[in-house]
Parts: sequence; structure tokens; C-alpha cells
Amino acid sequence: MRRSWRRNPHVELGLVFVLLVLLPSFLLGSFSLRAVENERAAAQQRSMAERSSTADLAGRIVHQEMKTLEAGWSTLVPRPVGWEANLGAVVAALDSARGHDFVRACHLLHVSGQRLYPPEPAATEPTPIPSADAFDAGDAHEVRELLAAAETAEFELDTPQAALVAYRALLDAARTPRLQAVAHAGIARAYLHLRQWQQAIEASEWILQQHADAYDLDNQPLRLQARLHIARAREEMGQALPAATALVASYEDLVAHSDEIGRLQFDVLVERIEERMARLLPRPMPDDWRALEQRYAAVAAQRKRPIGSDYFANKLSRKLVRAALEGLAYTTEVRYLSDTVDGEPFLLAYVYLPDASGTAVAALAGFEIDLRSMSIAMLPGIMQQFQTDDDLVLALVDAEGKPVLSGSVVPATNSVSHPLAVPFDFWSVAVALEPDATDVGSLEFRTTVYLYLVLVLLLTIGTGAALVVIGLRRQSRLANMKTSLVSSVSHELRTPLTSIRLFSELLEAAGEDAGLEQRRQYLHTIRREVDRLQRLIDQVLDFARGERGARQFRFEFEEIGALVRNVAEDFRSQAEGKGFHFEVDIEPDLPEVRVDADALRQLLLNLLANAMQYSEKERAITVRARRSGLEVGIQVQDRGIGIDPADHERIFEDFYRGDTRLSSRHGGLGLGLALVRRIATAHGGRVTVDSRRGQGAVFTVWLPVSENGENESAVKEARRARS
Ligand code: ADP
Repeated sequence: MRRSWRRNPHVELGLVFVLLVLLPSFLLGSFSLRAVENERAAAQQRSMAERSSTADLAGRIVHQEMKTLEAGWSTLVPRPVGWEANLGAVVAALDSARGHDFVRACHLLHVSGQRLYPPEPAATEPTPIPSADAFDAGDAHEVRELLAAAETAEFELDTPQAALVAYRALLDAARTPRLQAVAHAGIARAYLHLRQWQQAIEASEWILQQHADAYDLDNQPLRLQARLHIARAREEMGQALPAATALVASYEDLVAHSDEIGRLQFDVLVERIEERMARLLPRPMPDDWRALEQRYAAVAAQRKRPIGSDYFANKLSRKLVRAALEGLAYTTEVRYLSDTVDGEPFLLAYVYLPDASGTAVAALAGFEIDLRSMSIAMLPGIMQQFQTDDDLVLALVDAEGKPVLSGSVVPATNSVSHPLAVPFDFWSVAVALEPDATDVGSLEFRTTVYLYLVLVLLLTIGTGAALVVIGLRRQSRLANMKTSLVSSVSHELRTPLTSIRLFSELLEAAGEDAGLEQRRQYLHTIRREVDRLQRLIDQVLDFARGERGARQFRFEFEEIGALVRNVAEDFRSQAEGKGFHFEVDIEPDLPEVRVDADALRQLLLNLLANAMQYSEKERAITVRARRSGLEVGIQVQDRGIGIDPADHERIFEDFYRGDTRLSSRHGGLGLGLALVRRIATAHGGRVTVDSRRGQGAVFTVWLPVSENGENESAVKEARRARS
């Protein structure tokens, strides 16, 4: 088993192919891949290291800049002990600090909860907040009662009609503009309640015209309310566009003056406006709505940006409360607060102010830092220090990696970040290279090119190897064929040689005793066999030529019956000599068939030799020839070992030999049947086999009868009859 495996030339070639081509190619491929990977990793490391040192350096520069700024901020507020006595100076300092060193707004909060700066919005109003100021000394009492009645009717009793009457009375009695505005607002609300839309609109518009800057008694801007009332009334009247216009106007107003109201109230109003707008905006959008929609989108986008100053004041006041609770000792250091609100980062710098003893914290001065302008002022300068790296992206990011100060957005991957030193450790410097500019990027391009080259190389090697293998296989087949031809020659020549030897021996043995006639007969036979030998040799050469497609046949019309009988009878003595029962059964009047007589003889002898060779105990051979339709069938039947149906096709292949005891005992290289098929095919015919193992075999060669053949035989018949 092992030996035959090793001898198989295909397996050997396969091994050679694997060892010499596939294995080295695979190794080459994987080595180059690994080399590329290594280089990539190294380049990545190099660029990371570079960025890391850049980030470190940038971090130090940023820190330095921030320190410089800090020096400015810490001196912004005068903080001597006893400063409370000179509050005006502190407030004046804060006033002048705004706009300096990126300070956007200032706060001064007292530990008592008092807001010392900026002044409360109401304080800037023409009519100051204290409620007593809303009333004239004279009518104070009457007005107070009227207002109380109106509010009770409106809010507690829910009787708008009564409220309307009361607000009207209030309007008549009121002398100050603010109180008049409050009365107008009440009238508008009552009309809304009464669903008297037009009157509600008129009352509200009166407020917009006359009291645009007025605040109600809860310090809410009245014009905001007026606009919302107009929108509501217009919507109820089915006037969608004017309603939406009023809504957008109130939205713009709200965003522009977001600092005038509390954060919570701002959010509630925005929510209400957006809800109503969603209801009003028609889908699809008509053209006359477009301008309004754009205004709406713009203000909605804008509202995201400004964070109300109250929000920061709250944050700072919490710091102050905590400092007081924890009994924090007063120091002059500048502290920071950095976080994000609505996705926007902010930075607050703050200092504490001492109490009367100078040891505890009494107040807090905080600065809102304008990050945008700080970014513009600071980053380009820093970037300039790394001028060699045009593709460098530098940013200051917060704890979550979101950019705080940035020229452009730093990609999270491929970047290195270093935290700033205390007290700015709430930020980090992130450094990245533009992706397409990185070493790794260009390396990846090179890698791709390199890998493609290796691929092309491997393909070339593979194709070359395949061609070599095909060539080698062809050569090995030719070599095999050569060897087989030699053996095949001996196989094919055995029969005539045996005859020659037999008859020459007979001649020799008979010597003088042999009669002239007998001698002539022996010599004739010998000559005939020599001729056949000659022909066979020619045919062996023909076979070789046939391999090359160069065999020549000489076709002539022959009486096929006679031809077959002739060959069979020649073979009879040989068969019978070996104890075969030999029968010849030729149908009379077979037509003439166009054949190469020698080739056909060769074909028949091959079949007969096989019949003899592959028979064991039952020794009987029958040769038949009969016509069937447009074909003549020549049949050789034996009762020998038979052939497995699975082998019926393969036995006709060159050099195929059945794996039987008999075929290996006898010589032969599996060329006989191949030759039979080749000859039959050359005659335009075919060979069939009918056999089963152990049940003998019937080989039939079918040759076509041409019309000519019929004519020819008819002519010959006529000629014979004539003579
Ligand atoms: P060879 O006889 O030299 O082996 P052939 O081409 O003549 O080559 O035959 C191919 C194979 O077909 C043989 O090896 C044998 O196994 C099988 N074979 C051919 N003729 C017969 C037959 N008459 N009976 C049984 N087996 C046959």
C-alpha cells in the first residue's frame, strides 16, 4: 500500500508542489504580514510616544498660561478685612472686571444668601421692587383692596367676570404705570378666561405698547405674558400663522432675556412654547410659513447656548454654603469649578472674601470665563510652538473627554491625553494627528501595496508551478506510455511469433519427409504470419502515431463477413490448441463495409486474445457477425471471468488493467481495448461490452454500413453472378 502510494507520480508531484511552492509561499506571505504588523505597531508606538511628549509639553504651556490668567483673576477683587464697609469699591471692581481676561460675568455672593453683585434685576427697573413702592401713599389702601379682590375673583373663586370688573376698577384707581400694567395684564387674563379673544388681544397689545419693560408683582416681565396671551387667543380664533408668529416672538424675547427669570421658569415657558409650536406648525410646510419656521429654528438653536447666569450663581452659592458649613479658613487662592451644562462646558473661577476677623469665609466672588474667546486667544499660540506638525490637533478636554478648548474636535481614537497640573487638573490636553496624516496612515497604504505585490508574486509562483506540474505530468504520462508501448509490442506480437515458431518447427521436424504441398503450406503460413508481424509492428508505430494523432488508415470496401471469418479461422487452431470450443457464426449476405482490413484484423485479434486470456475452466469462444439496421455488429463472446459493470468504461482507457489474478498473471499493459476503441472510432463505429463478473463477456464492434457499401456489394454480387 505504502509503496504504491509513494510510487504514484501525482502524489510525488503534489508533494514537490507543496514543499517547493506552497510552503515557501505561505511562509513568505506570513513573514511579510508579520513584518508589516510589527512595523505598524512600532510606528504606532512611535507616533504615540511623540504625541505623548507633545501633550506633556502642551500641558505645561497651557498650565503656564492659565497661571498667568489666574494672577489676573485673583487681583480683580479687592479683599481687605472689613471690605463689607466699603462694598461700593468691591462692586465697582467687579463692574470693571467684566470683559477683562475672558471674564464674561461676575458674581458676589454673601454667606447670608444675599446677592451683592450683580444687582437684582428688579433694582434696575424704573419702578423699584418693594411692593409698597407700587402704590401711591394716598390710594394705597384702596388699591391694595381692589387688587386683592381681583386676585381672589380670578384665582380663588375662578369667576372671570368678577375679576374683569375688579381689574377694571383697579385700572381706574391706579396711578403708577406699573400698577396700570398689572391691571391690564389681569384684564387680558380675564378676557381669555371668558373666551373673548379679541378683547384679550387688545388688552395684551396695550401692554406691549405701553408697558414693554414692566414687571408684575412677582417680578415676571409682563410683555412675555402678553405675547403668550396673544398667541393663545389667535390660536383659539383659528389664526395659526399670527399665533405662531406671536409664539416665536415670545420665544425670542425669552431667550434674549433669559437672565431676567429663573432657570426653572425659563424651562417651563420654553416647554410650553415648543409644545404649542409643534401643534401649530402645519405639515407639509406652506411657503408663507418658511420664514417663520427659520426664525423658530434659529431661536431654538440659540437657546441651547446661553446658560442663565442664575445657574452659575447657584453653583457658586452652593460652594459658599459648603465652605461656611465646613468652617473653611479664609485663603487668597483662586479656585475653579468646571463642568458641562446642556452639553456646553463652562469654567468658573472664584475667590473667597474674608469676614471681619479675616480668618473665616464671608463671601465669594466668582467669574464666568468665556471659554470660546479663551480658546481663540490661547490655542493658536500654543499650536505655533509645534509648528513642525501641521497635522497636529490639540484640544483641552474635560473629565469625560469632551473638548473644552479646541481648535477642532479631537478624535477619541489615535489620541493621547495628559491631565494638566493642579489646580487645573479637571482638564487634560489631548493631542492627535489628522488620521490621514499619521505615520500609520501612510504605512497602511504601503502595507496594502506591499501585500498586493506579495499576492501577485504568489500568484505568479503558483501559476508557474501549476504549469510545471502540468508539464511534468505530461512527461510522466509520455514516459509511462513509452514503457507500456514496449510491453504492449511484446503482447501484440506474441500471437504471430508463436505461429511462426510452430510452423518452422513443424517444417524442421518433417525435414525431407514433408511433401512439397505440405511444405508450401507451412511456408505460406509462416509468410503470412511474418506479414502480419510486419503489419503489427507498423500498427504499434501507428499506435504511437495515434497518440500523436498521426495514424493513417487505408479504408476500402471489404466483404465484412469474409474478413471476420478469415481472422476467426486463422485463430481457430490457436484456440483449439488451448482446449477452447471455438465457434464462428456469420450471417450470410452481409453488406460490404468500408474498413481498413489490417486495423480490423488487429481489432478482432485483440478481442480474441482477451477472450482466450480471461477464460478459466469454461473454455468457449464464439465469433459472430450480423447486421442490425444501418450497422454491422461483430461480436466476440467468451465464458470467462467476466468484467464488473463498474469497470465497463475504464477498461477502454489507455493502460488500464483490471485488477484480477488473471490480468496480472498474463502480460499486457492495458492497451488492447484502447486500440480496439480507437480503431472502431476511426471507422465511425463504436464498441459495446456486455458482461458481469463470472459470467463471461460479450464485446461487440458496431460498424456503420454506408449506402455506398450496399451499392458496392450489389455491384459485386452482380459481377459474381455474371462470371
Ligand atoms: P490487457 O488485456 O493487456 O490487460 P486490455 O485493454 O485488452 O488490456 O484489457 C483491459 C482489461 O479489461 C484487462 O486487464 C481485463 O481486466 C479486462 N478484460 C478485457 N477483456 C476481457 C474479457 N474478455 N473478459 C474479462 N475481462 C476482460
